[in-house]
Amino acid sequence: MTFDAATKMEFLYTLRSKGVTDARVLTAMEQVDRADYIKGTFADRAYEDMPLPIACGQTISQPSVVGLMTQALQVSPRDKVLEIGTGSGYQAAILSKLARRVYTVDRYRRLVHAARAVFEQNDITNITTFTADGSHGFAEQAPFDRILLTAAAEDPPGPLLAQLRVGGVMVLPVGQSDAVQSLIRVTRTETGLDYDELRAVRFVPLLEGLGQE
Ligand code: SAH
Repeated sequence: MTFDAATKMEFLYTLRSKGVTDARVLTAMEQVDRADYIKGTFADRAYEDMPLPIACGQTISQPSVVGLMTQALQVSPRDKVLEIGTGSGYQAAILSKLARRVYTVDRYRRLVHAARAVFEQNDITNITTFTADGSHGFAEQAPFDRILLTAAAEDPPGPLLAQLRVGGVMVLPVGQSDAVQSLIRVTRTETGLDYDELRAVRFVPLLEGLGQE
């Protein structure tokens, strides 16, 4: 599937109109072809601003939400970033354009392998993928400058907060149910944690343990 320049222009216009105004984030989103991360019949809808189904019953997030989350994360070029919930790999690919190194984890091996193959095809070399229950984080590489969860937790997982550097930022959806979730930003300061509530969102839940596929 290839898309023309007009479709891509309109995509960027939609992102801007929905509040994605950070120039670095928009440039990163322009560089990553969302169609590469969607398999099968849905690929022709890659440039519509909606979540779409991927393998293992999961979803690739809505592009404007990806943009707003990335913007809220305030990534700098020297940052080491941890993403929980690789899914299609689309969000990790965008982070890879903004950060020094990205670690991304999913509980489905099949999704991790598919995402890794797309990173290789696109010569993206600063992403490390792994299969695990990401709610424990990745102690070997901690602390992280930035942590992004793309699945909804009831509360920010303790091990992830513990793996955030002082001055570090974590963005995640939190909520008790599928219907009501809010996107929050947690900043670690010298003395504790600051919380900002950003907007209402809807994500698949953060689940325990490994997936079957
Ligand atoms: N960031 C993705 C969208 C992710 S959908 C993208 O850009 O396409 C959420 C993902 O979180 C799913 O793939 C799901 O398998 C994963 N997930 C849920 N609970 C998890 C956990 N405990 N550890 C790791 N991944 C988890």
